[in-house]
Amino acid sequence: KKPEVVIIGRPNVGKSTLFNRLVGKKLALVDDQPGVTRDRRMGDAVIAGLHFTIVDTAGWEDENELSLPGRMRKQTEASLAGADAAIFVVDARAGLTPLDEEIARYLREQEVPVVVVANKAEGNAAEAGVMEAYALGLGEPLAVSAEHGVGVADLFGGLWPII
Ligand code: GDP
Ligand code: MG
Repeated sequence: KKPEVVIIGRPNVGKSTLFNRLVGKKLALVDDQPGVTRDRRMGDAVIAGLHFTIVDTAGWEDENELSLPGRMRKQTEASLAGADAAIFVVDARAGLTPLDEEIARYLREQEVPVVVVANKAEGNAAEAGVMEAYALGLGEPLAVSAEHGVGVADLFGGLWPII
């Protein structure tokens, strides 16, 4: 069975854009409106000969559920079950939010290895956001622009030791 890598993060950070970039087709819906990704979506990804199943999630996307950590945690637990690694996406332009910190705290408690992606990192405006992502305590963040395809190949270096 191919390794399974699940993409996790708060709404609007670019999870579905990254998913589409890795799969090479538009299997996931990308939208400015949070909560657009209704289901988990799976696709076949390959980076430099490293084949894995990639999963796009909406576990933290229902804003109405944010006050219900148990429910939120359950959805994320479900998506992490059976995953060999997680890609935790944050928005390097927006900077860290309390929800990013909460997801990071949750992921630090899990066994699954995590690669942090600081997305929307094209251009200089995102440099501070990439540095900030170190503070999540989940290792060195990869500066990526899922939309422009920049840095996505660097995920190889982050993933191959752990999947
Ligand atoms: P999700 O809610 O985490 O799945 O985020 P989406 O993939 O739906 O993207 C949310 C918004 O961020 C959309 O408007 C995307 O076009 C935009 N976006 C995604 N990746 C990038 C990126 O690398 N750079 C910039 N500037 N915007 C991006
Ligand atoms: Mg999405």
